Amino acid sequence: MQDQIRLYMFQTGVLKCKENNIKMNASLDPYEIPVPWYLITHPKGNLIIDGGNAVECAHDPVAHWQGITQVYWPVMEEKDGCVNTIKALGLDLSSIRYVAQSHLHLDHTGAVGRFPNATHIVQRKEYEYAFAPDWFAAGGYIRKDFDKPKLKWQFIELDHNDTYDIYGDGTVLMVPTPGHSPGHCSFLINLPNSGSILLAIDAAYTTDHWEEKALPGFLASTVDAVRSVQKLHAIADKHSALVVTGHDPIKWGTFKKGPNEFYD
Ligand SMILES: [Zn+2]
Repeated sequence: MQDQIRLYMFQTGVLKCKENNIKMNASLDPYEIPVPWYLITHPKGNLIIDGGNAVECAHDPVAHWQGITQVYWPVMEEKDGCVNTIKALGLDLSSIRYVAQSHLHLDHTGAVGRFPNATHIVQRKEYEYAFAPDWFAAGGYIRKDFDKPKLKWQFIELDHNDTYDIYGDGTVLMVPTPGHSPGHCSFLINLPNSGSILLAIDAAYTTDHWEEKALPGFLASTVDAVRSVQKLHAIADKHSALVVTGHDPIKWGTFKKGPNEFYD
């Protein structure tokens, strides 16, 4: 399995919130979003993108996430944690060569520091912002998830039109898409059989956001967020990519899910 390039999609359960937390100015009705994360197997070593929630949220969300649980309540089981998922797949934890972070919000940092051989890749400006966020964004960063001793980091600094090619073979490209957070990246995955898959992550929360019918319920910069969606549209068109939005409860159900199904 580890010799084949595959993309697996997983989730660490759901977050319970209100519709207007996800779509700006929408209702106060209860809303439930999936928390996706991704594994790419590759002959040069495996890659986790994001890793979902920290597994500690399975038992005591308030202890791990504190006050932000009043807005986003995580519902997950211990088996959903990325380490347990990787083990259940029959992969060695040491096979994870990279953990790449779209950004460092709390529902994306579940893999950081949990794989002994991993180099953690993130934009430097996201890492720096996570230690000193503006007041309205502070609840989204759980410092103990990413401020751990002896982590191996690879900080990347991308200009607007740059991409970062993780393996150097065009399989996984990081694309800067600021707006949701200052150093946010999306990922363009190019697979031998399935073709291109664009993981927008939180640069497009939902299909409404992707189609410019709604702004997201949380963002750091509205103008940047809108322009990042337009940038991703151009990339998706150019590569005829399957687009995966970050937290759409309906669209997420249409994709193949691991461990039994994958894209290759
Ligand atoms: Zn986020």
